[in-house]
Amino acid sequence: MQTHEIRRRFLAHFEHAGHTPVPSASLILDDPTLLFVNAGMVQFKPYFLGDAPPPYATATSIQKCVRTGDIENVGHTTRHNTFFQMAGNFSFGDYFKEGAIRHAWSLVTSSQDDGGFGFDPERIWVTVYENDDEAERLWQDVAGLPLERIQRRGGEDNYWDMGVPGPGGPCSEIYYDRGPEYGLEGGPVADEDRYLEIWNLVFMQDVRGDSSPKYGAPPIGELPQKNIDTGLGVERVAFLLQGVDNVYETDLLRPTIDRVQELSGRSYDHGTPEDGVRFRVIADHIRTGTMIIGDGVIPGNEGRGYVLRRLLRRVVRNARLLGITEPVLVDLTTVVRDAMGPSYPELVTDFDRIVSVMRAEEEAFLATLTTGSRLFDSAVADTRRAGRSVLSGEDAFVLHDTYGFPIDLTLEMAAEAGLDVDEGAFRSLMDQQRARAKADAKSRKQGSADHSVYRRLLEAHPPGEFLGYTDLQAATRIV
Ligand code: ATP
Ligand code: MG
Ligand code: MG
Ligand code: MG
Repeated sequence: MQTHEIRRRFLAHFEHAGHTPVPSASLILDDPTLLFVNAGMVQFKPYFLGDAPPPYATATSIQKCVRTGDIENVGHTTRHNTFFQMAGNFSFGDYFKEGAIRHAWSLVTSSQDDGGFGFDPERIWVTVYENDDEAERLWQDVAGLPLERIQRRGGEDNYWDMGVPGPGGPCSEIYYDRGPEYGLEGGPVADEDRYLEIWNLVFMQDVRGDSSPKYGAPPIGELPQKNIDTGLGVERVAFLLQGVDNVYETDLLRPTIDRVQELSGRSYDHGTPEDGVRFRVIADHIRTGTMIIGDGVIPGNEGRGYVLRRLLRRVVRNARLLGITEPVLVDLTTVVRDAMGPSYPELVTDFDRIVSVMRAEEEAFLATLTTGSRLFDSAVADTRRAGRSVLSGEDAFVLHDTYGFPIDLTLEMAAEAGLDVDEGAFRSLMDQQRARAKADAKSRKQGSADHSVYRRLLEAHPPGEFLGYTDLQAATRIV
């Protein structure tokens, strides 16, 4: 089943049940707590927080999401994209747990002839929050799931809140068993690769006080109006229904892998495992970069612009590691446009602008690579001459700071030259620089309107650190 059809079926199911279809919000919302929208509920936050009356009792959407915290997973796990589409249904004081479970079960397990996804009910497992007896009972009563395939999990995994006093509640997640060849027995608690998470149902029922339940504090009350917030990973459903090995090989991403095979002359399906990762990283990141530029971000040295730059530089670098020496960004953006355009027509109408941003960024980075590589080569020569096998933290820092070399580029190039890098020293130089920047920002700020929230977010969670699911929470805490 093609991604387009998965999207269509999801919306059709919920529209048929009276939900108002709401278009995806931009990835960039006027929300100081988030770099990028990372879940379907974000655009509905005012309704969940009680800041505005919801214009509908129930809604459904397919939201563009970016989770930079998943960047290190990309290409290595089977299931993490930096950009993905989250399909969701939302109830604002309308149906609650039973309705949410009934809807999800029906869509997941109804046959494809009946408009569902047609997953084998025998392969479905679910998790519930450790003391959510009600959800456990509903999965048995409504879905007929046997108790052995309902697992309880603690607050770290199955309790949701915003990291600030306000609404919170237990979650219940739906997993599909890919089969014994993919890992250990024992359900999602034992193995999240074999048992693939596809859908998260959040039951907003509690009022949270100052401490999160993840730290053991009970809720301080019950919400007067109980809400439902769910998120289904469209790419993950496509991965399962298309019989491929991971999200990167699904219909909207595979064309990029194919194009990279043509450009590099290397094989994806019969190549080395290292090359496999590179193909997947490229396919994932070029799409994310295109979507982010489509929503108005341009590459830069901080905040969103930095995330974008990092993604695009990883594309260029991985392409070079696959032996491609020509520029690739514009070429691959065209492939992304053709795949994503039918769902996101802005990529077609805005293509010239997007491509001009890509072209400029690639030229800048290739220039950087050329000069940086010279410095790198002489640093390697010096290190060898001195009889050492470790490139100094200072060298790595200068490459980063002056030549824009991401540390992982330095690490990979050093490894290819048979050297280690003193990462500890590099990190401490980075920390010192961050502390200096912070002090500067503080002295600059002095009472003026403050736009440093993203910088602070980035400082507290440097790129590469987990910023995904908890983007909202982490950011809220910092603000
Ligand atoms: P995982 O544990 O696999 O990292 P998650 O628990 O972080 O996923 P949720 O925050 O519950 O994910 O998001 C709701 C749904 O969105 C998930 O059930 C999954 O189907 C999908 N999803 C989450 N992160 C990604 C991602 N990086 N790429 C693709 N789909 C994702
Ligand atoms: Mg999870
Ligand atoms: Mg989850
Ligand atoms: Mg996650």
